[in-house]
Amino acid sequence: MAQPILDVRNLHKHYPGVNAVNGIDFTVPQGICFGLLGPNGAGKTTTIEMLEGITKPTSGEIRYKGELQGARFRQEAGIQFQSTALQDFLTVRENLKFFSSLYPKGLPLEELIEICRLQEYLDRDASKLSGGQRQRMLLALALVNDPDVVFLDEPTTGLDPQARLNFWELVNSIKARHKTVLLTTHYMEEAYNLCDEIAIMDHGKIIAHGSPDALLATHFQDVIIELPERDFPDAAKTIPHRYLDKVTGTIEIITPDVNGTLAQLIQHGASLAGLQVRPRTLEDLFIELTGKELRA
Ligand code: ATP
Repeated sequence: MAQPILDVRNLHKHYPGVNAVNGIDFTVPQGICFGLLGPNGAGKTTTIEMLEGITKPTSGEIRYKGELQGARFRQEAGIQFQSTALQDFLTVRENLKFFSSLYPKGLPLEELIEICRLQEYLDRDASKLSGGQRQRMLLALALVNDPDVVFLDEPTTGLDPQARLNFWELVNSIKARHKTVLLTTHYMEEAYNLCDEIAIMDHGKIIAHGSPDALLATHFQDVIIELPERDFPDAAKTIPHRYLDKVTGTIEIITPDVNGTLAQLIQHGASLAGLQVRPRTLEDLFIELTGKELRA
């Protein structure tokens, strides 16, 4: 097997009274997008900050291309910081120039500007950018040194759906350049779309790890039938079901046998006009494994 870009062994981070990260092991192959998921307080940020070299582990080992994290890692890693790293009184162009001056080599500014689609905002003060524009600039700053591995900690939190889709395209363009991306996110759809591998964390431990499709196939052999409550006659209520949404009145039936369940519904006089069959999603898996609803 090719050498992983990151190799994490028995990693712990203990704060007084809390084991934020409590013994995790994983490897990240080169060139993939690896997602860390988990409910609030699961230990994602602590983990990614240890991988970034910002937080010192209590114990355990992190290897980058086979070596303990050191000068090579610092030259070859890109971190998308949040606002603290940003010089608000500088324009986008000035920020890009300032950050690229910190590295001996890197991407030409024109290329960065094009990848992150910043052409229109170059002369705008960083403080005047919208949320989506700001994230694109922060991503550009993370890419100035043309890193081999890029760390993105909740990069699309607070963005509107269009800005989030735009950001996904950027991440895909980084992947197309054979870069490795480490991502934390609360959006399961984002993880499903971007990540080749995910690790779900809870209480400082990894509770599931694999490709999204492999995890779904392992955990679920069923699908979900949704139908409006008004189309679900009393006679059909012998079929195990639950109320998905009391406001819109949607019934959810989990079944490994769609044909059989549909036959039962018809037999009990249910209308199938508003019925939908959907496969299991990462959101279902997240809720099943962590017992927690997703953060809005
Ligand atoms: P979120 O989704 O809310 O960002 P997370 O999965 O990133 O959560 P962490 O921020 O890694 O979780 O926090 C894990 C645990 O460690 C939490 O209980 C948190 O309160 C605690 N923690 C994190 N940083 C510190 C710190 N500097 N000092 C003490 N406790 C901390």
